[in-house]
Amino acid sequence: MVKARGQPPTVWLGQSVDTSCICSTHPELSHKPFLTSLGCAIRRPSLHQTHFNGQLKSKLGVTGPLMVDSGGFALLTNPTARWTLREVARAIERIEADVFVNLDLPPAKGDSAEDRKRKIIKSTKNFNTLFERFPDKTIMPVVHGRTISEIEFSVRLLSKRYGELKWIGLGGIVPLLQHRNVSREISLMGAEVFIARALEVIRSSNPRSQIHAFGAGGTRTFPAVFAFGADSADSIGWRQAAGFGSIFLPMKSQRTVKWNEDRPAPRKLLDGSDIAQLARCACPICISVSSIDDKLSLLRNGFYSRSIHNAWTITQQHKYWPSTRTAMRLFVANGGLGAQWAKACSA
Ligand SMILES: [Zn+2]
Repeated sequence: MVKARGQPPTVWLGQSVDTSCICSTHPELSHKPFLTSLGCAIRRPSLHQTHFNGQLKSKLGVTGPLMVDSGGFALLTNPTARWTLREVARAIERIEADVFVNLDLPPAKGDSAEDRKRKIIKSTKNFNTLFERFPDKTIMPVVHGRTISEIEFSVRLLSKRYGELKWIGLGGIVPLLQHRNVSREISLMGAEVFIARALEVIRSSNPRSQIHAFGAGGTRTFPAVFAFGADSADSIGWRQAAGFGSIFLPMKSQRTVKWNEDRPAPRKLLDGSDIAQLARCACPICISVSSIDDKLSLLRNGFYSRSIHNAWTITQQHKYWPSTRTAMRLFVANGGLGAQWAKACSA
């Protein structure tokens, strides 16, 4: 089920195992790629018995490709949890999925350069162990770094041992774009330039691998990371945005359609060009009615409708892009995704 190179860019829909999968009732969505995390079992160990087994896909209500994260990021926010490589390996053994993410150790706020180096080495050791133990399963290593030389170090450790990896991930993109000044080097060069450089470092050592950009599946971020070499990304934003009354449109930031009107709208509202884009939306919600007013009232009236629209939009977004990576790169260079990403093209 793992896609071959040359297939369209893919967004995996992030979904925690213990919430209902609202896409399962829509066959147009239930076969889309999904990502779930073993990190859920850090909070609720009983999930090992009930969900993290051979029936995980049917528990989630999905039939397409499934990626399973090992909980490295969840561990970062819950450092006292008893969560080891042995537990991850036990779960991988039981679960049927298409890609398993290594138990990586992302850098934490306040880590020194020495701490981060130790974490990169430990993450690579974890990858070596899982890769050897599961020769018939696909394990994806995740590259982290707060400087380009840390990214290079992480990539070098992997490429020294593995000629060609099927998948390789870049982690920590969302914190970089949200908090920006996470290291001196990044605040000087800009988060977008750093992410673009990191993707180029990974691509140059892994010309044929699938590169997955963690957390970067949004409608503004995914086209940008695609331009710089990523093939795949994931997003939990489709549900989060729906919860905040917002919808996605390809190549645009979120637009608010429902909010407490006593206060200013938390995000941009729909303008004329957004409405024209929405009128053409062929998601399972929007095609169920014909007029734009009816579409809007469905999207205003429920989390469920917005979630389905958002899931559809992020998985179909590449159909609204410039047709090749080179054309996307040109679009980004011309400021199509803002000045910071344009700067990343010329840096
Ligand atoms: Zn729609």
